Amino acid sequence: MSKLDFLNAEIQSLKEQGLFINIRTIESAVGAWIQVDGKRVLNLCTNNYLGFANHPKLKEAAKAAIDQYGVGPAAVRSIAGTQSLHRELERKLAAFKGVEDVISVQSGLLANQAVIPTITTAEDVIFSDELNHASIIDGTRLAKAKVVRYKHNDVADLEAKLKSEPVTRNRLIITDGVFSMDGDVAPMKDIVEVAEKYNALTMADDAHGEGVLGRAGRGVAEHFGLAGRVDIEIGTLSKAFGVVGGYVAGKKAIVEYLRQRARPFLFSSAVTPADIAACIAAVDILAASGALVEKLWANTKYFKDKMKALGFDLGQSVTPITPVMIGDTHKARAFSQKLFEHNIFTMAIGFPTVPKGKERLRVMISATHSTEDLDLAVQAFEKVGKEVGVI
Ligand SMILES: *Cc1c(COP(=O)(O)O)cnc(C)c1O
Repeated sequence: MSKLDFLNAEIQSLKEQGLFINIRTIESAVGAWIQVDGKRVLNLCTNNYLGFANHPKLKEAAKAAIDQYGVGPAAVRSIAGTQSLHRELERKLAAFKGVEDVISVQSGLLANQAVIPTITTAEDVIFSDELNHASIIDGTRLAKAKVVRYKHNDVADLEAKLKSEPVTRNRLIITDGVFSMDGDVAPMKDIVEVAEKYNALTMADDAHGEGVLGRAGRGVAEHFGLAGRVDIEIGTLSKAFGVVGGYVAGKKAIVEYLRQRARPFLFSSAVTPADIAACIAAVDILAASGALVEKLWANTKYFKDKMKALGFDLGQSVTPITPVMIGDTHKARAFSQKLFEHNIFTMAIGFPTVPKGKERLRVMISATHSTEDLDLAVQAFEKVGKEVGVI
């Protein structure tokens, strides 16, 4: 008997259910092709939508920032960790997004924790889409407000709940902009309209919309012509922006208050100068040109058209996130494994990331993929899909 038997039993149970995650080690920079466990494979896994994760301009900016500012700020933002680079990034992001102000933090996950518990109290009610990202759920758990879940992307259900739920102070509606597992998009226009009717605050977590949706990747609000009408936009700098970090964009009063009270800003050290400089370079590239975003969408259409023609079920996706629905854990894993044998790297996603019965492969399209890369992927999917009995 050991004190840790309870965990060993849990681990064993994960293995038996086919839920134990085999974590691959990446031995190269992130691009269309990567080295994984000693093998060169086509990368259909990362959120490197625009190729910024290994972009020469971002690398150059990061190196220059190290020479000028060193490797770390050695302080939290509110004490001595705000370097001129952090302010420059926030100013540039605010201009890019067309919002009043931006506060940047260490990650998208922490951006949700920075805002949700900070601007709500026990007198408020949070209305949250049932499929919202885990980091939103964690943010709501840290909040004292009551949380009411509404049906996924169902504005009628949201309105019914806004109407029936007694509220002393504020209503806050939170949704993912793009849902990270299904690649569908929140009906932001309808959500904002219903919110305005009930004087509710709106918040969109646009981790998968930044750099993807809207003019040159300005995100879900801009995509729906709602710039300035979504009160709070959460962004991450770790997906399309290719680096690390997160931010809250929105009205001046919100951002100003977060600088006073958001715990990730107050109690965890600032992001390094190299990371921030790389993020600034990414924003500069997008502010100057939408070419990479256009390439991303052209690749997405090309791949999805071919996969649909082969008979694959791509779920509800309308973005570069391409779920290939399988509906069984073991089958999804076998599919992923066989693709890997064909030098195609794509992950099987199962419970608890997606509901049981909704197991899938999740293909992430990037502007870095060439047409030949996508053709290679489609050929492998066709072959393995027939072997495994999915098409
Ligand atoms: C990935 C993701 C996050 C977390 O962003 P990080 O910067 O990786 O912490 C938050 N919200 C959503 C919707 C995401 O998809």
